Amino acid sequence: MDSVADARLHVLFFPLMAQGHLIPIIDTARLFAMRGVKVTILTTPLNRPHISPIVQRDRNFGVEIGIQQIRFPSVEVGLPENCENASSISDPEMLLKFLKAINMLQQPFEEILQEQRPDCVVADMFFPWATDVAGKFGIPRIVFHGSSFFSLCVQDSLSRYKPHANIASDLEAFVVPCIPDQIEMTSSQLPDDLQDPNNIGEFHKSIWNSDERCYGTLMNSFYELEPAYAEHYRKAMGRKAWHIGPVSFSNMDFTEKAQKRGNRAAIDEHECLRWLDSKEPNSVLFVCFGSMPRFNSTQLREIAMGLEDSGHPFIWAVLRKAEEEPWLPDGFEERMEGKGLLVRGWAPQVLILEHPSVGGFVTHCGWNSTFESISAGVPMITWPLFAEQFINEKLVTMVLKIGIAVGIKTWSLFSEGKELVKRDAITKAVTSLMDSGEEAEQMRSKVGELKESARRAVEKGGSSYADLTALIEDLRLHKRSAV
Ligand code: UDP
Repeated sequence: MDSVADARLHVLFFPLMAQGHLIPIIDTARLFAMRGVKVTILTTPLNRPHISPIVQRDRNFGVEIGIQQIRFPSVEVGLPENCENASSISDPEMLLKFLKAINMLQQPFEEILQEQRPDCVVADMFFPWATDVAGKFGIPRIVFHGSSFFSLCVQDSLSRYKPHANIASDLEAFVVPCIPDQIEMTSSQLPDDLQDPNNIGEFHKSIWNSDERCYGTLMNSFYELEPAYAEHYRKAMGRKAWHIGPVSFSNMDFTEKAQKRGNRAAIDEHECLRWLDSKEPNSVLFVCFGSMPRFNSTQLREIAMGLEDSGHPFIWAVLRKAEEEPWLPDGFEERMEGKGLLVRGWAPQVLILEHPSVGGFVTHCGWNSTFESISAGVPMITWPLFAEQFINEKLVTMVLKIGIAVGIKTWSLFSEGKELVKRDAITKAVTSLMDSGEEAEQMRSKVGELKESARRAVEKGGSSYADLTALIEDLRLHKRSAV
């Protein structure tokens, strides 16, 4: 029998209950399990069904992942009983309740750690208290942000130097100080808890504070994508970090790509691929704004008309609640027969992006979507909405130069008060990207190179493969020294 120090390393993963966090953390957990690490994913009862089929399929291939449940206090905070995932949140009041419920997980999380005693906890940024709770048991806590080095560097600069403090208006540009590139932003593009420089939000502060004290950061990125920022994060900001992405590459075959990604697709995947097979290479635009429904009918109609006017074939995934009012222009679906494929609900995004007919992606710049697009070699039209998406847009359009901005100016979490993008602006962006001008071709070629770098990064000997090896070795050493 092995001694305690030599026993298998056990890592507990604790993702936020939101598809944009669950999906990459599950992919990450699988990468650890494939390297022989004992892995447990901690989640709530209603999020378990998103994970169970993945775990079941992996088990058939000899990869063992455990699931541990933690009760979500929806009713105690005044949320509906079935609300355990951020995709069900539709207004600011619900959001506050959701955040309150998340905070209430601290005590049960502590009890689980006491019982399980893993060797390491990879906990989402949304659980800043996880650093101290894990610390009580001498367990290293690694934070998972689900964003890029670039984004963390920009946010650090904004919190530290407050460049927006002396700016006259929300729309006046300022330069983000002390980062490797000259990046301009406006206050209106910042997450609301960063917008007021004199009062950086408490939540943001607690996340930052917890990050500074935790064992390190796990990044779904690869070194060659943003080397200057990987260096800046480690050297100038002094943080320990491991880049192990693209974690979506852990899904190898059709079934994994089709069925392992969050929800069940609202379209038959084979039908979707057949439709794409019938189109020319790089001719189709994929339009999808992540896992949270965020547009009102007026905006959806403008998108429909903008796409129609552009004349390019498209697949458009639209998440709407069933009871919402009609939103398609009259006769749209008939006119778009054969030209446009509407997915009413969850689309098999990774499968679509990887199809050679897809030549552009209209994205809200959630990091997973952005990174999946890069990993598939697809240039983007950027349409950021909330979270750190405006920062991701800067990475795409100003640093990597692999996308065209649709021109959104203002951060907004819910559809109320959201800036309306008119059909003309949409058509213009689509035409610029899809009509093979010189600039578009340069973007296509650049993102194609990044796709190849991404593939090399996760192969044996690649930078992400090596960093995952280094992290697992680091944790093994830590475990031995802790005995
Ligand atoms: N996604 C998908 N189909 C959809 C919508 C989203 O597969 O119809 C996946 C997408 O591939 C990505 C994740 O959901 O992995 C969304 O994460 P992202 O960070 O882009 O945005 P968020 O939903 O967190 O705003």
